[in-house]
Amino acid sequence: MRRPEYSLFRQLINLLGWRTRRKIVVIESDDWGSIRMPSNQVRNELIAGGVLSKAAISHYSLNDSLESNQDLQSLFQVLESCRDSNGRHPMFTALCIVANPDFDRIESTNYTEYHYEPFTTTLDRYTEHDQVYQLWKEGYEKQLFIPQFHGREHLNVTAWMHALQSGHPKTLAAFRKGFTSFGAVECGESNIHYQAAFDIYEPIEISYLKTVLIEGTALFEQLMGYKASYFVPTNGPFSLDLEPTLKHAGISYYTLNKLQKEPLGYGKYRTHIRWLGKKNAHGQVNLSRNAFFEPSVIGKNWVDSCILDIERAFKWHKPATISTHRVNYIGLLNPENRSNGLKQLKALLDAVISRWPNVEFMSSPELGEIILSDSQTR
Ligand SMILES: [Zn+2]
Repeated sequence: MRRPEYSLFRQLINLLGWRTRRKIVVIESDDWGSIRMPSNQVRNELIAGGVLSKAAISHYSLNDSLESNQDLQSLFQVLESCRDSNGRHPMFTALCIVANPDFDRIESTNYTEYHYEPFTTTLDRYTEHDQVYQLWKEGYEKQLFIPQFHGREHLNVTAWMHALQSGHPKTLAAFRKGFTSFGAVECGESNIHYQAAFDIYEPIEISYLKTVLIEGTALFEQLMGYKASYFVPTNGPFSLDLEPTLKHAGISYYTLNKLQKEPLGYGKYRTHIRWLGKKNAHGQVNLSRNAFFEPSVIGKNWVDSCILDIERAFKWHKPATISTHRVNYIGLLNPENRSNGLKQLKALLDAVISRWPNVEFMSSPELGEIILSDSQTR
């Protein structure tokens, strides 16, 4: 059940910032390009080895894996089957990870050095992934799948390397299976969640994160042939000291949480309130998510609840920005997860188009551009 105060908070946040009478729907999807659970066999071994708990297993550990040819082809089919009032298809703004750890090279240095590989190299190790990179580019050309920047890797390199060098048993056992995403904080092997690439424990780590952003955005441009203009940091924590680096790398728009936790070091955080259209000192515009669609999490009618989120956004004259993670559309580990996610996505898109015939689908950078030019002409 939705907590009343949470619902009230979301309504209040919806009141702040940029408004429009247009019925704009943006779909944002995180995590494309990153490794997660390599196979069902690895998951079973991690459970048997005590790294993961079978009773408390997450929907990510059950269903999320590097996207396959079929995952992308099936997703594109659903998107291509719908059109908005301008004749455009709905599109995913895909928040992408461009690299993954190079486990072999790290091990060959006895965990003294960190190395990463472009995600295109990771694809070579998987059996059903030889067209994925091409599909990213095709999706962009057809304006169905718009890659933008989520991070270099979906991993806090400093925290993870520190745990490996300290010989923490679960981190090492997971490493040997090519896996990084477990509750290392909960089991006392790390102060920082491994998935939160931009969180810090010591302020000195900021300078390494600048390198991560510079190399990550450069690799993105090399892979896609254009610069990323939109950024959503993995898992939320993000230091404002990194904003100039982002700006220099070409990022004009970003989404930080409505109650953004800025890490200051040693477990301290400063909270910033953010809303749609809020500009920082460098002229970068904050975008905002106000609708949620995660059908991989069972036990909720996600189509109805997302329609309600969109209705509320439109009521306050806001664009609706839907958050929907990659995990919902992945079938490598569990084909039923993909068919369920796509079936519900199709139902959601059909319902949106029939309920709001003048709906306009667009990407996050397009929305950012509209807000920016609006603020400049006022
Ligand atoms: Zn993510």
